[in-house]
Amino acid sequence: MSTPMLTQVAALKREAGDAILFTRMGDFFELHGEDAVIAAPILDIALTVRGRGTEFETPMCGVPHHALEAYLPKLLAAGYSAAIAEPTAKPEEVKGLLPRAIKRIITPGTWLDDDARWLASVHRLGQAWGIALLQLASGQLRVIPGEGLELLGSTLERLAPQELILAEGSPDPFELEAARTTLPGWRFERERARTQILAFFGWTHLEGVGLDPFPAAIGALGALLDQVEATQKGRPAHIQGVNLELGASGPLLDATSARHLEIAGNTLDGSRTGSLVALLDLCRTRLGSRLLRAWLDQPLRDRAGLERRWRQVGWLTEDRHREPLQKLLAHVPDLDRILGRVALGLATPPELGQLRDGLGWLQQLPGLIQEGGWFQEAQELQLWPEATPLCPDLLEALRFCLAEAPPLELDKGGVIRDGVDPELDAVRRLARDAKQVMLELEEEERAAAGFNNLKIKYNRVFGYYFEITKANLAAAPAHFIRKQTLANAERFTTEKLMAFEQRLLSAESDLLRLEEAQFRLLLDLVLGDRGQLNQLAQAVARLDLLCALAERARLSGWSRPELSEERELILAGARHPMLEARMGRECIPNDLALPAQRAMAVVTGPNMGGKSTFLRTAALLVVLAQVGSFVPAELMRFGLVDRIFTRIGASDFLAKGQSTFMVEMTETARILNQVTPASLVILDEIGRGTSTRDGLSLAEAIALHLRDLKGGEPRTLFATHYFELTRLAEDPRIQNLHVEVQEWEEHLLFLHRIAEGPADRSYGIQVARLAGLPRSVIAAAQRILAETPEPAIPAGRRRRPQQEVSQPPLPLFEAEPDPLRAELAALDLNRMTPLEALLWLAERQAGAGPH
Ligand code: ADP
Ligand code: MG
Repeated sequence: MSTPMLTQVAALKREAGDAILFTRMGDFFELHGEDAVIAAPILDIALTVRGRGTEFETPMCGVPHHALEAYLPKLLAAGYSAAIAEPTAKPEEVKGLLPRAIKRIITPGTWLDDDARWLASVHRLGQAWGIALLQLASGQLRVIPGEGLELLGSTLERLAPQELILAEGSPDPFELEAARTTLPGWRFERERARTQILAFFGWTHLEGVGLDPFPAAIGALGALLDQVEATQKGRPAHIQGVNLELGASGPLLDATSARHLEIAGNTLDGSRTGSLVALLDLCRTRLGSRLLRAWLDQPLRDRAGLERRWRQVGWLTEDRHREPLQKLLAHVPDLDRILGRVALGLATPPELGQLRDGLGWLQQLPGLIQEGGWFQEAQELQLWPEATPLCPDLLEALRFCLAEAPPLELDKGGVIRDGVDPELDAVRRLARDAKQVMLELEEEERAAAGFNNLKIKYNRVFGYYFEITKANLAAAPAHFIRKQTLANAERFTTEKLMAFEQRLLSAESDLLRLEEAQFRLLLDLVLGDRGQLNQLAQAVARLDLLCALAERARLSGWSRPELSEERELILAGARHPMLEARMGRECIPNDLALPAQRAMAVVTGPNMGGKSTFLRTAALLVVLAQVGSFVPAELMRFGLVDRIFTRIGASDFLAKGQSTFMVEMTETARILNQVTPASLVILDEIGRGTSTRDGLSLAEAIALHLRDLKGGEPRTLFATHYFELTRLAEDPRIQNLHVEVQEWEEHLLFLHRIAEGPADRSYGIQVARLAGLPRSVIAAAQRILAETPEPAIPAGRRRRPQQEVSQPPLPLFEAEPDPLRAELAALDLNRMTPLEALLWLAERQAGAGPH
């Protein structure tokens, strides 16, 4: 590497800062020095040395330029950003080293791929905070103001951005996987941020956006826009305004509950398989899939909106209504992403081709709705708003200008059609028809000179020429210009031949220049229509998603929910939406009646009986219904829910080093502070994280708090292994439910059926057998239990077992539990290996002395 190049790379690197610098050199992007050392192992490419043995020796690696987009995700996933430097002039324009500049910086939050990536910026001023969020692909910009650190943490967790911008030195207590970017504190300062926002959008004041009361949000937005400008080297035109989100329309589910209910990812490995999103995403376009995530994030809370969605979905469940639409939608590309790439100057010719083809298909959509003879109905349903622009002019321009299947790269030519630009046509003709033009020229000179064998020849050194043998030299026309003398011939050129040659040589660069100019014109046209394209994309996304919901309802036999004015939740024949697909076995349907006067239920029964599944089913059906979907139940009638709160076994937090009890307390505090009479509360095995007596008191206190909530008790499902809690049902507002179990010889048969009344007793030991504990351990456990005194159980509380039991009766609970029993009850047999259980028993046995 020469010194000037080293100097150039060093200067670029200074500008790139922490970002890994990719410098385009010929057909490669090269990485030098420290960057190469960091990136080579991440990208899995060979690290070499440039200028080995010289004083300029430096580590280096590289990737082919066309493969850059394939390599970048690895780098971003490792938390790095990439600065892309490219030449700013063509080799033929400059002598020596090409000038280069950084064209853009790609960060984890600004990478354009199929995912809905979010770049977030956070600013805090005392208790107040603001989050600014940008999805660069679609240009969607959201601002969320709020108060309190806890809410900030949970909001960020829910939004799950890929990159988080923070002020230098500001605390970062967030448990997020997002890459962190720090900017100097002054960039968040109110006045400067304000100036930046106004400049970015070309506004004169901020009142219209409603940001004024939220200085922290203004700071966050200003810093975010700074970062956009710095990475995109400009102000992307598709970012057109700010969406201010105030608390009222907040999410139905917080991040924890969404995780528990497996909305977007399963609890096993967090991947999409088996999640609610995976089940519902029968969308034909990326636009629809993206909207599904947004709808799940912000379900409806207004009756009219919900009723309309259900009507729309219902109409689309008819195959003859839905299928033609879906067939067409399958041809529509990701309009948002294409528009984003156009605005950022990254769009390729094939992407414009996709836009053209997609627009072409979309022209037929209104007609398709009419054709089926259901125009009136579809119109009333507002499936496709009449005012939706179809951008026919843009389509015509794209069809007229863009080649049928344009090549990926502009510099190969062939992007623009013939007949678009006369100059381009002439240059093309010259290149394509050089042979013909040459023959015409030859014929002309032959006639003028009067000899028949006059020919244009070519060689690499001298270019084009006429050759005349010495013998004929005298007859050479006067306008022939001597070019070269050989032993027995002379070579000539003419003015015309020179001009032809010159044009041929420049044709290639002319072609590129002219095609590029036409392509830019097309990009400008697309940008000019961005408002309309946005509107069109939204209409497509809605229609596609409604079709997807309808298709799911049709495929799985779901039915339309009913809204009632009462604060109730009534389910008949409800099934867990994801259980069947995931377990590959049939789901047992269950009923639930939480009428307004008896809105709380305590669910008891043995482990593995189906309590958790039942609770989740209820919550998931509410989520589905309020998204506008049909539900897997024969009947669902409910009053609108404002929030769903869940508290589910805390063991998954242990890995994060927090004590289970601490987690329980924090989450429970959150629920109790935010719950309203219109909420749905799901409490699964609350109090598990602490000793039995603490847990029991905690669980009971929470139940009572909810029962006595001002304005009315929220709909609440309480699953518990504490049989003591069944006595809560002495209050008429609380009911007991239990999971049905059949005993058969020594075995338990789980029916997964929910019935009224409390469970009759614990089946822990049978479950342990089921889990594969050795017989000797089971026998020992039964002996220990049998030796503990049977507690007094109020008459009428105890239900008859379904079959006579041959074993000694097992005690239910007692007023003063002895410590061993308490410990035994607190054991989570589902999570123990047989060996662990055996060790536990051995320890207790040793402690108790010989029996
Ligand atoms: P619990 O919370 O009472 O311990 P779970 O709800 O975790 O029980 O259910 C245990 C297992 O039983 C589930 O993993 C599932 O395979 C099965 N199951 C639960 N409910 C049903 C149901 N309604 N239909 C079919 N299988 C079920
Ligand atoms: Mg459970």
